Amino acid sequence: MNVTFLECSLTGERYEAGKPHNLSRAGKPLLVRYDLEAAKKTMTRESLATREPGMWKWRELLPNDGEPVSLGEPQTPIVPLPNIAGREGASSVLVKDEGRLPTGSFKARGLAMAVTMAKQFGTERIAMPTNGNAGAALAAYGARAGMETIIICPAETPEINVTETAAYGARVYVADGQIDECGALVGKGAAEGLWFDCSTLKEPYRLEGKKTMGFELVEQLGWEVPDAIFYPTGGGTGLIGMWKGFDELEAVGLIGSKRPRMYAVQAEGCAPMVRAFENGDEFAERWEKAATVATGIRVPKAVGDFLILRAVRESGGAAIAVSEEAILQAVDDAAREDGFLLCPEGGAVLAGWRKALGQGMVRADERVVLFNCANGNKYPLPDRSKRLTLQGADPRELCASK
Ligand SMILES: *Cc1c(COP(=O)(O)O)cnc(C)c1O
Repeated sequence: MNVTFLECSLTGERYEAGKPHNLSRAGKPLLVRYDLEAAKKTMTRESLATREPGMWKWRELLPNDGEPVSLGEPQTPIVPLPNIAGREGASSVLVKDEGRLPTGSFKARGLAMAVTMAKQFGTERIAMPTNGNAGAALAAYGARAGMETIIICPAETPEINVTETAAYGARVYVADGQIDECGALVGKGAAEGLWFDCSTLKEPYRLEGKKTMGFELVEQLGWEVPDAIFYPTGGGTGLIGMWKGFDELEAVGLIGSKRPRMYAVQAEGCAPMVRAFENGDEFAERWEKAATVATGIRVPKAVGDFLILRAVRESGGAAIAVSEEAILQAVDDAAREDGFLLCPEGGAVLAGWRKALGQGMVRADERVVLFNCANGNKYPLPDRSKRLTLQGADPRELCASK
Protein backbone atom coordinates (compact mmCIF):
# COMPACT_ATOMS: atom_id res chain seq x y z
CA MET A 1 0.00 0.00 0.00
CA ASN A 2 1.68 3.17 -1.24
CA VAL A 3 -0.69 5.83 0.12
CA THR A 4 1.26 8.58 1.83
CA PHE A 5 -1.50 11.00 2.80
CA LEU A 6 -4.69 12.66 1.58
CA GLU A 7 -4.73 16.25 0.45
CA CYS A 8 -7.42 18.95 0.28
CA SER A 9 -7.96 19.60 -3.43
CA LEU A 10 -8.37 23.33 -2.77
CA THR A 11 -5.94 24.23 0.00
CA GLY A 12 -3.41 21.39 -0.13
CA GLU A 13 -3.88 20.72 3.60
CA ARG A 14 -2.80 17.17 4.44
CA TYR A 15 -4.80 14.41 6.13
CA GLU A 16 -3.69 11.12 7.57
CA ALA A 17 -4.19 7.94 5.51
CA GLY A 18 -5.62 4.74 6.95
CA LYS A 19 -8.90 6.07 8.32
CA PRO A 20 -12.30 7.15 6.97
CA HIS A 21 -12.61 10.67 5.61
CA ASN A 22 -15.26 12.87 4.06
CA LEU A 23 -14.65 16.46 2.89
CA SER A 24 -11.70 18.55 4.01
CA ARG A 25 -12.04 21.30 6.62
CA ALA A 26 -12.49 23.72 3.70
CA GLY A 27 -15.50 21.64 2.58
CA LYS A 28 -13.74 20.35 -0.55
CA PRO A 29 -12.87 16.86 -1.87
CA LEU A 30 -9.79 15.07 -0.57
CA LEU A 31 -7.37 13.53 -3.05
CA VAL A 32 -5.34 10.41 -2.23
CA ARG A 33 -1.58 10.78 -2.73
CA TYR A 34 0.89 7.94 -3.24
CA ASP A 35 4.59 7.22 -2.91
CA LEU A 36 5.10 7.28 -6.67
CA GLU A 37 8.79 6.34 -6.46
CA ALA A 38 7.82 3.13 -4.69
CA ALA A 39 5.02 2.47 -7.19
CA LYS A 40 7.42 2.98 -10.09
CA LYS A 41 9.62 0.06 -9.02
CA THR A 42 7.06 -2.63 -9.77
CA MET A 43 4.69 -0.85 -12.14
CA THR A 44 6.24 -1.56 -15.50
CA ARG A 45 4.47 -2.19 -18.80
CA GLU A 46 5.83 -5.74 -18.72
CA SER A 47 4.63 -6.55 -15.22
CA LEU A 48 1.23 -5.00 -15.90
CA ALA A 49 0.82 -7.07 -19.06
CA THR A 50 1.10 -10.29 -17.03
CA ARG A 51 -1.57 -9.35 -14.46
CA GLU A 52 -5.21 -10.34 -14.58
CA PRO A 53 -7.06 -7.58 -16.48
CA GLY A 54 -9.39 -5.24 -14.58
CA MET A 55 -9.29 -2.40 -12.10
CA TRP A 56 -7.43 -4.26 -9.33
CA LYS A 57 -4.28 -4.83 -11.40
CA TRP A 58 -3.30 -1.18 -10.77
CA ARG A 59 -2.66 -2.01 -7.11
CA GLU A 60 0.40 0.21 -6.60
CA LEU A 61 -1.83 3.22 -7.27
CA LEU A 62 -4.87 2.02 -5.31
CA PRO A 63 -5.53 2.72 -1.63
CA ASN A 64 -6.64 -0.68 -0.36
CA ASP A 65 -4.62 -2.83 1.96
CA GLY A 66 -5.60 -6.43 1.36
CA GLU A 67 -8.39 -8.17 -0.51
CA PRO A 68 -10.83 -6.07 -2.51
CA VAL A 69 -14.60 -6.43 -2.26
CA SER A 70 -15.13 -7.63 -5.80
CA LEU A 71 -17.90 -8.86 -8.08
CA GLY A 72 -15.55 -9.69 -10.94
CA GLU A 73 -14.87 -6.30 -12.53
CA PRO A 74 -13.67 -6.87 -16.11
CA GLN A 75 -11.44 -4.69 -18.24
CA THR A 76 -14.07 -2.99 -20.37
CA PRO A 77 -13.66 -3.14 -24.15
CA ILE A 78 -13.07 -0.25 -26.53
CA VAL A 79 -15.61 -0.63 -29.32
CA PRO A 80 -15.36 1.41 -32.55
CA LEU A 81 -18.52 2.81 -34.17
CA PRO A 82 -17.39 2.71 -37.82
CA ASN A 83 -20.70 3.61 -39.46
CA ILE A 84 -21.34 6.52 -37.13
CA ALA A 85 -17.80 7.76 -37.77
CA GLY A 86 -18.23 7.38 -41.52
CA ARG A 87 -21.43 9.37 -41.52
CA GLU A 88 -19.63 12.26 -39.81
CA GLY A 89 -16.71 11.99 -42.23
CA ALA A 90 -14.39 10.97 -39.36
CA SER A 91 -11.74 8.28 -39.60
CA SER A 92 -12.91 6.63 -36.38
CA VAL A 93 -14.72 7.06 -33.11
CA LEU A 94 -14.17 4.75 -30.16
CA VAL A 95 -16.47 3.89 -27.28
CA LYS A 96 -15.13 2.70 -23.94
CA ASP A 97 -18.05 0.53 -22.90
CA GLU A 98 -18.41 0.75 -19.16
CA GLY A 99 -21.84 -0.87 -19.32
CA ARG A 100 -20.11 -4.26 -18.99
CA LEU A 101 -19.25 -3.80 -15.32
CA PRO A 102 -21.21 -5.41 -12.45
CA THR A 103 -24.56 -3.61 -11.93
CA GLY A 104 -24.26 -2.37 -15.52
CA SER A 105 -22.47 0.92 -14.99
CA PHE A 106 -19.07 2.43 -14.25
CA LYS A 107 -20.32 3.33 -10.80
CA ALA A 108 -19.14 -0.21 -9.95
CA ARG A 109 -15.50 0.92 -10.15
CA GLY A 110 -15.97 3.69 -7.63
CA LEU A 111 -18.20 1.82 -5.24
CA ALA A 112 -16.11 -1.37 -5.31
CA MET A 113 -13.22 0.78 -4.14
CA ALA A 114 -15.21 2.80 -1.60
CA VAL A 115 -16.80 -0.31 -0.07
CA THR A 116 -13.43 -2.07 0.01
CA MET A 117 -12.06 0.84 2.03
CA ALA A 118 -15.15 1.09 4.24
CA LYS A 119 -14.83 -2.61 5.06
CA GLN A 120 -11.17 -2.13 5.86
CA PHE A 121 -12.15 0.65 8.29
CA GLY A 122 -14.90 -1.46 9.89
CA THR A 123 -17.80 0.71 8.66
CA GLU A 124 -21.18 -0.95 9.31
CA ARG A 125 -23.68 1.32 7.58
CA ILE A 126 -23.34 3.54 4.49
CA ALA A 127 -25.78 6.01 2.99
CA MET A 128 -25.82 7.84 -0.33
CA PRO A 129 -28.00 10.01 -2.56
CA THR A 130 -28.14 8.73 -6.13
CA ASN A 131 -29.73 9.25 -9.53
CA GLY A 132 -29.76 5.48 -9.87
CA ASN A 133 -26.57 3.72 -10.93
CA ALA A 134 -24.45 4.66 -7.93
CA GLY A 135 -27.14 3.38 -5.58
CA ALA A 136 -27.33 0.02 -7.32
CA ALA A 137 -23.55 -0.31 -7.16
CA LEU A 138 -23.35 0.66 -3.48
CA ALA A 139 -26.17 -1.76 -2.64
CA ALA A 140 -24.49 -4.61 -4.52
CA TYR A 141 -21.01 -4.14 -3.07
CA GLY A 142 -22.52 -3.41 0.34
CA ALA A 143 -24.36 -6.75 0.22
CA ARG A 144 -21.12 -8.42 -0.81
CA ALA A 145 -19.29 -6.89 2.13
CA GLY A 146 -22.08 -7.56 4.64
CA MET A 147 -22.82 -3.87 5.18
CA GLU A 148 -26.11 -2.06 5.63
CA THR A 149 -26.91 0.46 2.91
CA ILE A 150 -29.41 3.32 2.76
CA ILE A 151 -30.09 4.88 -0.63
CA ILE A 152 -32.08 8.07 -1.30
CA CYS A 153 -33.14 8.70 -4.91
CA PRO A 154 -34.61 11.90 -6.33
CA ALA A 155 -38.01 11.77 -8.00
CA GLU A 156 -37.75 10.54 -11.60
CA THR A 157 -34.97 8.07 -10.87
CA PRO A 158 -35.47 5.30 -13.45
CA GLU A 159 -37.58 2.61 -11.82
CA ILE A 160 -35.24 -0.15 -12.90
CA ASN A 161 -32.50 1.43 -10.76
CA VAL A 162 -34.79 1.68 -7.76
CA THR A 163 -35.96 -1.93 -8.00
CA GLU A 164 -32.46 -3.23 -8.68
CA THR A 165 -31.09 -1.39 -5.65
CA ALA A 166 -33.82 -2.84 -3.44
CA ALA A 167 -33.08 -6.32 -4.81
CA TYR A 168 -29.66 -6.18 -3.12
CA GLY A 169 -31.37 -5.63 0.20
CA ALA A 170 -30.69 -1.90 0.50
CA ARG A 171 -33.19 0.41 2.19
CA VAL A 172 -34.29 2.57 -0.76
CA TYR A 173 -36.24 5.82 -0.59
CA VAL A 174 -37.57 7.86 -3.52
CA ALA A 175 -37.67 11.51 -2.46
CA ASP A 176 -39.52 14.58 -3.76
CA GLY A 177 -36.43 16.61 -4.69
CA GLN A 178 -33.14 16.78 -6.61
CA ILE A 179 -30.01 14.78 -5.86
CA ASP A 180 -28.26 17.58 -3.94
CA GLU A 181 -31.31 17.90 -1.69
CA CYS A 182 -31.22 14.15 -1.03
CA GLY A 183 -27.52 14.61 -0.32
CA ALA A 184 -28.27 17.20 2.34
CA LEU A 185 -30.36 14.63 4.23
CA VAL A 186 -27.58 12.04 3.94
CA GLY A 187 -25.18 14.64 5.34
CA LYS A 188 -27.51 15.31 8.25
CA GLY A 189 -27.68 11.62 9.17
CA ALA A 190 -23.91 11.32 8.92
CA ALA A 191 -23.46 14.32 11.22
CA GLU A 192 -25.70 12.54 13.73
CA GLY A 193 -23.49 9.47 13.53
CA LEU A 194 -26.13 7.26 11.93
CA TRP A 195 -24.06 6.21 8.91
CA PHE A 196 -21.05 6.92 6.74
CA ASP A 197 -21.74 9.40 3.90
CA CYS A 198 -20.60 7.96 0.56
CA SER A 199 -21.80 10.83 -1.70
CA THR A 200 -19.89 11.62 -4.89
CA LEU A 201 -16.56 13.23 -4.00
CA LYS A 202 -17.53 13.60 -0.33
CA GLU A 203 -15.66 10.31 0.12
CA PRO A 204 -12.15 10.13 -1.35
CA TYR A 205 -11.94 6.54 -2.58
CA ARG A 206 -14.66 6.37 -5.24
CA LEU A 207 -12.44 8.66 -7.31
CA GLU A 208 -9.56 6.19 -6.97
CA GLY A 209 -11.73 3.41 -8.39
CA LYS A 210 -12.96 5.60 -11.22
CA LYS A 211 -9.50 6.73 -12.28
CA THR A 212 -8.72 3.15 -13.37
CA MET A 213 -10.80 3.91 -16.50
CA GLY A 214 -7.96 6.18 -17.60
CA PHE A 215 -5.27 3.62 -16.72
CA GLU A 216 -7.05 0.91 -18.64
CA LEU A 217 -7.70 3.14 -21.60
CA VAL A 218 -4.08 4.11 -22.20
CA GLU A 219 -2.85 0.56 -21.82
CA GLN A 220 -5.49 -0.60 -24.33
CA LEU A 221 -4.37 2.11 -26.76
CA GLY A 222 -0.79 0.83 -26.63
CA TRP A 223 0.30 3.24 -23.86
CA GLU A 224 -0.85 6.28 -25.77
CA VAL A 225 -3.42 8.79 -24.63
CA PRO A 226 -6.17 9.59 -27.14
CA ASP A 227 -6.43 13.09 -28.62
CA ALA A 228 -9.75 13.74 -26.93
CA ILE A 229 -12.04 12.19 -24.31
CA PHE A 230 -15.77 12.94 -24.17
CA TYR A 231 -17.20 12.32 -20.73
CA PRO A 232 -20.82 12.61 -19.54
CA THR A 233 -20.39 14.89 -16.58
CA GLY A 234 -22.55 14.85 -13.49
CA GLY A 235 -20.44 14.92 -10.33
CA GLY A 236 -17.40 14.56 -12.55
CA THR A 237 -15.69 11.76 -10.60
CA GLY A 238 -14.49 9.96 -13.70
CA LEU A 239 -13.21 13.06 -15.44
CA ILE A 240 -11.37 14.31 -12.36
CA GLY A 241 -10.16 10.78 -11.60
CA MET A 242 -8.74 10.15 -15.06
CA TRP A 243 -7.06 13.56 -15.09
CA LYS A 244 -5.39 12.74 -11.75
CA GLY A 245 -4.55 9.26 -13.02
CA PHE A 246 -2.71 10.52 -16.09
CA ASP A 247 -0.35 12.52 -13.85
CA GLU A 248 0.26 9.41 -11.77
CA LEU A 249 1.00 7.35 -14.89
CA GLU A 250 3.49 9.95 -16.04
CA ALA A 251 5.14 10.05 -12.61
CA VAL A 252 5.70 6.29 -12.65
CA GLY A 253 7.08 6.50 -16.19
CA LEU A 254 4.27 4.71 -18.02
CA ILE A 255 3.27 7.65 -20.28
CA GLY A 256 4.80 10.94 -21.39
CA SER A 257 3.54 14.49 -20.92
CA LYS A 258 0.89 14.43 -23.65
CA ARG A 259 -2.67 14.64 -22.33
CA PRO A 260 -6.02 14.17 -24.03
CA ARG A 261 -8.29 17.19 -24.35
CA MET A 262 -11.11 16.58 -21.88
CA TYR A 263 -14.65 17.42 -22.98
CA ALA A 264 -17.28 17.55 -20.24
CA VAL A 265 -20.64 16.86 -21.84
CA GLN A 266 -23.87 17.94 -20.15
CA ALA A 267 -27.53 18.18 -21.15
CA GLU A 268 -28.96 21.61 -21.97
CA GLY A 269 -31.52 20.98 -19.21
CA CYS A 270 -28.76 20.70 -16.58
CA ALA A 271 -25.53 22.37 -17.64
CA PRO A 272 -23.92 24.11 -14.65
CA MET A 273 -20.38 23.24 -15.81
CA VAL A 274 -21.00 24.56 -19.31
CA ARG A 275 -22.32 27.84 -17.96
CA ALA A 276 -19.34 28.23 -15.61
CA PHE A 277 -16.91 27.25 -18.36
CA GLU A 278 -18.33 29.81 -20.74
CA ASN A 279 -18.41 32.53 -18.07
CA GLY A 280 -14.80 31.85 -17.10
CA ASP A 281 -15.84 31.03 -13.51
CA GLU A 282 -13.76 28.90 -11.14
CA PHE A 283 -16.82 27.46 -9.37
CA ALA A 284 -20.27 26.63 -10.77
CA GLU A 285 -23.57 27.91 -9.47
CA ARG A 286 -26.47 25.53 -8.85
CA TRP A 287 -28.63 24.81 -11.92
CA GLU A 288 -32.29 25.39 -11.06
CA LYS A 289 -35.05 23.10 -12.39
CA ALA A 290 -32.62 20.50 -13.70
CA ALA A 291 -34.23 18.10 -16.16
CA THR A 292 -32.90 15.59 -18.71
CA VAL A 293 -33.53 12.00 -19.83
CA ALA A 294 -29.86 11.39 -19.13
CA THR A 295 -30.48 11.04 -15.38
CA GLY A 296 -26.86 10.12 -14.59
CA ILE A 297 -25.82 13.66 -15.48
CA ARG A 298 -28.74 15.41 -13.81
CA VAL A 299 -26.56 16.94 -11.11
CA PRO A 300 -27.44 20.61 -10.41
CA LYS A 301 -24.52 21.24 -8.05
CA ALA A 302 -21.21 19.33 -8.00
CA VAL A 303 -18.87 19.57 -5.01
CA GLY A 304 -15.92 18.98 -7.38
CA ASP A 305 -17.00 21.74 -9.79
CA PHE A 306 -13.66 23.56 -9.71
CA LEU A 307 -11.75 20.30 -10.31
CA ILE A 308 -13.86 19.53 -13.39
CA LEU A 309 -13.39 23.05 -14.75
CA ARG A 310 -9.66 22.97 -14.00
CA ALA A 311 -9.13 19.67 -15.83
CA VAL A 312 -11.19 20.78 -18.82
CA ARG A 313 -9.28 24.09 -19.10
CA GLU A 314 -5.79 22.70 -18.45
CA SER A 315 -6.36 20.02 -21.06
CA GLY A 316 -7.48 22.48 -23.74
CA GLY A 317 -10.92 20.84 -23.90
CA ALA A 318 -14.33 22.36 -23.29
CA ALA A 319 -17.67 21.89 -21.58
CA ILE A 320 -20.44 21.22 -24.09
CA ALA A 321 -24.23 21.18 -23.71
CA VAL A 322 -26.45 19.05 -25.95
CA SER A 323 -30.21 19.04 -26.47
CA GLU A 324 -32.58 16.25 -25.44
CA GLU A 325 -33.37 15.73 -29.11
CA ALA A 326 -29.69 15.30 -29.98
CA ILE A 327 -29.27 12.81 -27.11
CA LEU A 328 -32.15 10.61 -28.23
CA GLN A 329 -31.10 10.86 -31.87
CA ALA A 330 -27.58 9.73 -30.97
CA VAL A 331 -28.89 6.71 -29.03
CA ASP A 332 -31.07 5.77 -32.01
CA ASP A 333 -28.32 6.23 -34.56
CA ALA A 334 -25.68 4.18 -32.73
CA ALA A 335 -28.17 1.35 -32.22
CA ARG A 336 -29.37 1.26 -35.82
CA GLU A 337 -26.12 1.91 -37.61
CA ASP A 338 -23.58 0.14 -35.45
CA GLY A 339 -25.69 -2.19 -33.29
CA PHE A 340 -24.51 -0.46 -30.13
CA LEU A 341 -27.12 0.47 -27.52
CA LEU A 342 -25.75 3.51 -25.72
CA CYS A 343 -27.29 4.67 -22.45
CA PRO A 344 -28.78 8.21 -22.70
CA GLU A 345 -25.64 9.63 -21.04
CA GLY A 346 -23.60 7.84 -23.71
CA GLY A 347 -25.96 9.33 -26.28
CA ALA A 348 -25.20 12.77 -24.82
CA VAL A 349 -21.52 12.14 -25.31
CA LEU A 350 -21.97 11.04 -28.92
CA ALA A 351 -24.07 14.15 -29.51
CA GLY A 352 -21.34 16.22 -27.84
CA TRP A 353 -18.68 14.81 -30.15
CA ARG A 354 -20.85 15.52 -33.18
CA LYS A 355 -21.32 19.09 -32.02
CA ALA A 356 -17.60 19.54 -31.35
CA LEU A 357 -16.79 18.12 -34.77
CA GLY A 358 -19.28 20.47 -36.41
CA GLN A 359 -17.74 23.44 -34.61
CA GLY A 360 -14.18 22.45 -35.45
CA MET A 361 -13.17 21.72 -31.83
CA VAL A 362 -12.04 18.24 -32.84
CA ARG A 363 -10.74 17.10 -36.20
CA ALA A 364 -12.11 14.19 -38.22
CA ASP A 365 -8.75 12.39 -38.15
CA GLU A 366 -8.26 12.57 -34.39
CA ARG A 367 -8.40 9.60 -32.06
CA VAL A 368 -11.44 10.23 -29.91
CA VAL A 369 -12.81 8.13 -27.03
CA LEU A 370 -16.42 8.46 -25.89
CA PHE A 371 -17.48 7.03 -22.54
CA ASN A 372 -20.62 4.93 -22.50
CA CYS A 373 -21.08 4.73 -18.77
CA ALA A 374 -23.97 2.32 -18.41
CA ASN A 375 -25.69 -0.50 -20.22
CA GLY A 376 -28.40 0.85 -22.53
CA ASN A 377 -30.71 -1.95 -21.42
CA LYS A 378 -31.07 -0.33 -18.00
CA TYR A 379 -33.19 2.48 -19.44
CA PRO A 380 -36.72 2.61 -20.77
CA LEU A 381 -36.82 2.52 -24.57
CA PRO A 382 -39.64 3.47 -26.94
CA ASP A 383 -41.71 0.46 -28.03
CA ARG A 384 -41.51 0.44 -31.82
CA SER A 385 -42.97 -3.04 -32.29
CA LYS A 386 -46.27 -3.75 -34.04
CA ARG A 387 -49.06 -6.09 -32.97
CA LEU A 388 -49.47 -9.18 -35.07
CA THR A 389 -52.41 -11.54 -35.51
CA LEU A 390 -50.95 -14.94 -36.32
CA GLN A 391 -54.17 -16.33 -37.81
CA GLY A 392 -53.93 -15.68 -41.55
CA ALA A 393 -50.72 -13.66 -41.28
CA ASP A 394 -48.79 -13.17 -44.54
CA PRO A 395 -45.00 -13.54 -43.95
CA ARG A 396 -44.27 -11.24 -46.92
CA GLU A 397 -45.91 -8.36 -45.13
CA LEU A 398 -43.50 -8.75 -42.22
CA CYS A 399 -40.63 -7.78 -44.54
CA ALA A 400 -42.51 -4.98 -46.26
CA SER A 401 -43.67 -2.94 -43.31
CA LYS A 402 -41.15 -0.37 -42.00
C1 LIG B 1 -23.10 8.72 -12.64
C2 LIG B 1 -23.21 8.67 -14.09
C3 LIG B 1 -22.64 9.66 -14.90
C4 LIG B 1 -21.87 10.82 -14.33
O1 LIG B 1 -20.65 10.40 -13.78
P1 LIG B 1 -19.76 11.37 -12.90
O2 LIG B 1 -18.40 10.76 -12.91
O3 LIG B 1 -20.35 11.41 -11.55
O4 LIG B 1 -19.77 12.71 -13.55
C5 LIG B 1 -22.77 9.53 -16.27
N1 LIG B 1 -23.43 8.50 -16.82
C6 LIG B 1 -23.99 7.53 -16.08
C7 LIG B 1 -24.72 6.44 -16.76
C8 LIG B 1 -23.91 7.59 -14.69
O5 LIG B 1 -24.46 6.62 -13.95
